[in-house]
Amino acid sequence: MPATHAARRARLRERLRAADLDAALVSNLVNVRYLTGFTGSNAALLVFADGATSDHAVFCTDGRYDTQSATQVPDLERVLSRACDLALTARAGTDGVRRLGYESHHVTVDGLKALREQAPEAGFGTLARAVEALRLTKDDTEIALLRQACAYADTALAEMIAAGGIRPGRTEKDVARDLENRMLDLGADARSFETIVAAGANSAIPHHRPTNAVLAAGDLVKLDFGAECGGYHSDMTRTLVLGEPAAWQREVYDLVATAQRAGREALAVGADVVAVDAAARSVIAAAGYGPQFSHGLGHGVGLEIHEAPTLSALGAGTLAGLTPVTVEPGVYLPGRGGVRIEDTLVVRDDGPELLTLTSKDLVAL
Ligand code: ZN
Ligand code: ZN
Repeated sequence: MPATHAARRARLRERLRAADLDAALVSNLVNVRYLTGFTGSNAALLVFADGATSDHAVFCTDGRYDTQSATQVPDLERVLSRACDLALTARAGTDGVRRLGYESHHVTVDGLKALREQAPEAGFGTLARAVEALRLTKDDTEIALLRQACAYADTALAEMIAAGGIRPGRTEKDVARDLENRMLDLGADARSFETIVAAGANSAIPHHRPTNAVLAAGDLVKLDFGAECGGYHSDMTRTLVLGEPAAWQREVYDLVATAQRAGREALAVGADVVAVDAAARSVIAAAGYGPQFSHGLGHGVGLEIHEAPTLSALGAGTLAGLTPVTVEPGVYLPGRGGVRIEDTLVVRDDGPELLTLTSKDLVAL
């Protein structure tokens, strides 16, 4: 996709000119990937606002990735160095950059000192998360990869349930490994993040790590998992019950499901992220469980499992179209159990597109 990456660099250049920066040093590896397609573990990118060519940029990685980067980044000048950010800053200095933009949310204080030593004549200014701002809205290719990643997760869960994979006697670790293997067998590149399987009282722990705890009749079983596809991450949570649900389990489940629907329905182009969070949170608070919903409503997903925007009371800003986000309210009752229901959706002009298609009806196994 060289044309796609060139177009993204062109959009970054517009931001550089607007910020009166001569060049950008992109050192956050995810951002380098977004702008070049490079998937290795060490790289940086120097993008000039103007230059001899319309796409003046220099890519740097180290010798381990010489061959890989020649294939993945065929359209840019490449240099090899272990200290990519230092090498590119020195290059900016020799190329006469007066004001160099750097990723101040990513570079450490020590790191900035080292950068300044490489280009003593240059001034440094923050890029102010310019690349993250570009990444906020996704193109068709990115959304297609997210859709595929979500489909792997949907299918893996359906197949595991059909095979009787969630049953008393299995451990949380058994279920997590089964689910992950099924996603990989379907074609996922990797799991999105460490799969959460939380049974019984453990389901009241929002980010429980699977243990050897054995699933038992009467347990709520919370599964939070996703697949990675072409670098893009899916994220879904479903909570099931083993056996006939108790009255309190059904009550909490219905409450979270109602809140989750309210959150999804609040997703709209231009909606305030704090208001979206409040749409779901107010449902739970009105039922008296406000303190038991102890985290934000959702987050952006893309090349990272958690990225902008943040849907929470602490978030800021409004939703743009073509932004994938999660909606994941939960109610957690310590010692008893908890319910979370999470979808990945894309904010669109004509209403959100649901990417995680697994039913949200309470499933009793
Ligand atoms: Zn999740
Ligand atoms: Zn999530």
